[in-house]
Amino acid sequence: MPCDIQKPSQNCVFLGVHGSYFTDKEKALKRINDIRKEACNEGVKDPDTNKKFKPSDYKPLKWSTNLEFVSRIRAFEGGLTMGHKRLNGKDIWTVQKNGVRSWSENLAWNWDSANSIDMINQWYDEKKDWVTGGKGVTGHYESLISSGFNYVGLGWFNSKCTKYPSCLAGSFSATNKGGEDYIEEKRDIIQTLDVLKSSINSYYLEGRKVMKTDETQMLTPRIKLKNPELSVWPLKISDLNFVSNNPKIAKVSRIGKVEAFKSGNATITCKNPDNTNFATFIIEVKCTHEKKLIKTVDSTCTKEGTNTYECDICKTKVDSKINMKPHDYKFVASNGKSTGTCTKCKKVIKCNPPTMFEIYWRNDQTTEGSSYWSCLPSNNPIGSTIVGWVHKINGDQNYRELIAECDNECALELPNDKIEDYVYVKVVGSGTVNLTIYSKYNPTVKHSYELYLGD
Ligand SMILES: [Zn+2]
Ligand SMILES: [Zn+2]
Repeated sequence: MPCDIQKPSQNCVFLGVHGSYFTDKEKALKRINDIRKEACNEGVKDPDTNKKFKPSDYKPLKWSTNLEFVSRIRAFEGGLTMGHKRLNGKDIWTVQKNGVRSWSENLAWNWDSANSIDMINQWYDEKKDWVTGGKGVTGHYESLISSGFNYVGLGWFNSKCTKYPSCLAGSFSATNKGGEDYIEEKRDIIQTLDVLKSSINSYYLEGRKVMKTDETQMLTPRIKLKNPELSVWPLKISDLNFVSNNPKIAKVSRIGKVEAFKSGNATITCKNPDNTNFATFIIEVKCTHEKKLIKTVDSTCTKEGTNTYECDICKTKVDSKINMKPHDYKFVASNGKSTGTCTKCKKVIKCNPPTMFEIYWRNDQTTEGSSYWSCLPSNNPIGSTIVGWVHKINGDQNYRELIAECDNECALELPNDKIEDYVYVKVVGSGTVNLTIYSKYNPTVKHSYELYLGD
C-alpha cells in the first residue's frame, strides 16, 4: 500500500509494515456524533467559543474521505511511534490528501482489535476533567465536541509488530474538499513506511538457528529500528534473493524456504536486488536419521562400555553408554559371614548376600483387583507398567539390591533406579521379551521370565 508520498523523503528509505486497516466507520461516526449531541444537551462548554452549548447547537460531523486517508497513515505511523510523531522527521501536519490536512489529531492505542468504539471511548473518558475543570488531559474530548470542526476521518491500523496491536487516529477539520465516502478495509497488507535511514539499527533474518534433518522453514527478512525499537519488513520481499553456501547441508529457495538434509552448518545469505548483502544467517542442522550400530565396546564390572551408532547419510557418530556389569562374586563362608571375591576383578566383599527371593507381579492397568501374583500378568498393553513386589528376600539388609535385564529394550523399558522392594518395567512396544531379575551381589540367585507384550 502506498503511503502519502511517491518517493522516499530526504535521508529516508521506504520500508514495509505488515498489518491491516480495519473499518468500523458508520458505528464510529455515530458514536462521535452521539458524544457531540450529549455535550449540547448537557450544556458542556464549547472548546471553540468557550460558551456553553445549547441543544440547538448540535451539528453532526461529516465524514471526509481525504481526512480518512490522512488518519490511516497517521494510525499506522502513530501505532509505531506511540505518539504524535512521524518516522521521516517531518511534522504530523505534513500528511495531506488532495490538499486536505488535519487541524487536530487524536490517537488511541488498544490491545483489543475487536472494535474502534473502545478507543473513541478512551478519548471520551476525558469528559469528566473537561466538565469539572480537572487537571487531566482533555484535548481529545475537545476535538470530539468542538463546534469549530465540521469534518472527521478515522483510520484504524492493526499490526503485530507494534507495542499495542491497535491504533486509532482521528483527524478533524472545519473544511473539506472532495467526497464523504468510506475507504475500503484492507487486510494483510504491507504498508509503505517512509523512515529516516539513521533510524535503522540492523537488517536480519528471522528463523530457527537449529534445524533437524528433513525439516523445512521459511526465513523472514526483517529490519530492526532504533527509535522506536521495533522490527519492520523490507518493502518488497520478492525483490530479495536467497542463496546457501552449502546446499548439501541445507538448501534455500529464492524466496527463503530452507530445507535441511545433512548434519553440519550452512550459511544462508539474503541478497538485495543490487547483489549487496541484506543479511546472513547460520543454520546448524542436526541429524535425526536412523543410525546403524557400527561398534560395541562391552562393559565390565569396573568400566562402562559404549555402543557407537553411525548415520549413513551424515556420517555422524553417536555413542551410547552401556552400564557397568555387576561383580561376579563367588562366596566362601567363614565365621558366620561370607566372603565374596569377584572372579573378574578380584574385588572382595564380606557380607551375606541373598540366597533366595521371590517376586509377585501385577499390571497397573489390570481391572482384576489389586492382588499380586507369582507369575507375570498375561495382559500387558503398550503404555502399561508391570510392577514386581520383591518378597521373601534374605541376606544382609544393605546387600539386597536386584538388577533387571532384558533382551528387547524396544518393547520393555527397565528402571534406572536401584531395585530393592519394588521393580517397575514399562511396556513400550510389542514382541517377545526375556526378562531376568537377579541379585547384584549374588547373580546366581535369579528369576527369568518369558513375556509376550502388546495388544
Ligand atoms: Zn544423518
Ligand atoms: Zn568385578
